[in-house]
Amino acid sequence: MSTPQIIEADLTWTGESFEHGVQIAIEPDGCIGRVGRELRSAARKLPNRAVLPGMINAHSHAFQRGLRGHGERFSQRAGSFWSWRETMYELVQRMDADTFYRLSRQAFGEMLAAGVTTVGEFHYFHHDASCDGYGFDEIVLRAAADAGVRIVLLNAYYNRGGIDQPLAQGQLRFRCGSVDEYWQQMDRLGDIVDPPTQSLGVAAHSIRAVSIDDIVALDDEASRRDLVFHMHIEEQSKEIDDCVAAHGLRPMALIHDRLSINPRFTAVHCTQTAAADMQALLEAKGNVCICPLTEANLGDGIPDLRRILHSDGCICLGTDSNARICFTEEMRWLEYVQRLATRSRGVCVDESGGCARKLWRIATINGARALGIRAGRIEPGYAADLVALDLHAPTLAGWTEDTLLDAFIFGSGSEAIAATCVAGQWTEHRL
Ligand SMILES: [Zn+2]
Repeated sequence: MSTPQIIEADLTWTGESFEHGVQIAIEPDGCIGRVGRELRSAARKLPNRAVLPGMINAHSHAFQRGLRGHGERFSQRAGSFWSWRETMYELVQRMDADTFYRLSRQAFGEMLAAGVTTVGEFHYFHHDASCDGYGFDEIVLRAAADAGVRIVLLNAYYNRGGIDQPLAQGQLRFRCGSVDEYWQQMDRLGDIVDPPTQSLGVAAHSIRAVSIDDIVALDDEASRRDLVFHMHIEEQSKEIDDCVAAHGLRPMALIHDRLSINPRFTAVHCTQTAAADMQALLEAKGNVCICPLTEANLGDGIPDLRRILHSDGCICLGTDSNARICFTEEMRWLEYVQRLATRSRGVCVDESGGCARKLWRIATINGARALGIRAGRIEPGYAADLVALDLHAPTLAGWTEDTLLDAFIFGSGSEAIAATCVAGQWTEHRL
């Protein structure tokens, strides 16, 4: 019978602070067993390391890693989300299975090196050039497994080009034929996921790409199967205008009107959401996923973070387009954008005024909630998904136990990460 591995770093994050002398038992099933002092004298010491829960990226499109370095030239001296989308469609149309695997594997590897131990992959690129067969669904799972990252495959339904619009050429490889066909594919995926590190969630791409009746049908079945449900909502004003024209309601209001929102529901972006609609989402305990770097890159606007925080809303973070993969940067820009917009400091803070601790909870515990997984804490019964900081990293120099988390989030990044652990399997990231 296998025995647990027991580790003891110089410092361990216990949820509120770093502590010395904490041992973590990692069980053979990849979960944390006991956590405490003197579990066993033969604990494997991790000198010059601080161990924290791994970070949780709640929203990614891994293949968009292929756009890095592209789409940043503006011949008309003005681009938009929609011009970026055309560049993305050009990438999609020339992508074969090998390239899709390579880009996904690259993105997931960069995430792990950035301390992300779980990715919520919002996956809508299902088909190869035949536009049939859902072959890319298995590839994205394989790429995550090969990279060593935990994945929640948020398998996305997509079947129209816009409200009452057929699919455009660049969208044909995203197509799901029907809600029934979608669930048949979900059943197939359920048979091939590797349960220790892989699970499924449901996504409707957006109010643009999915009819409200299909969104309701998908959410009903997701609820019956106890799966999380994610959607892009109100990232761009055109989506809102089109929805009001067709339904007489903004997308978030329409969703509230037709769905029963609960903690399984995550709205991604909400950069254009009206105050009353946001309030209704928060009162129903829905999650809001914000992707600061992508929203800045695409010019999506700024979410009303103060309102969300005032209502004790559950915010999580995503790398979305993966134009840059650095999770400390996502954390600090969540705060910095608000500082710039409000000309004040300390917007995203906890009850004690701590900014770093609040951001850390957003990047770990809240992400796990949105993805429906037991991770993000160093506690018995949670996934043994960890990140080990190098306490000698130059970008952390000057740290104290009290300031280490602040130094990491505001002044450092992937270069300070020495190793990650997913379900008890360690990966070293020596640079
Ligand atoms: Zn997205």
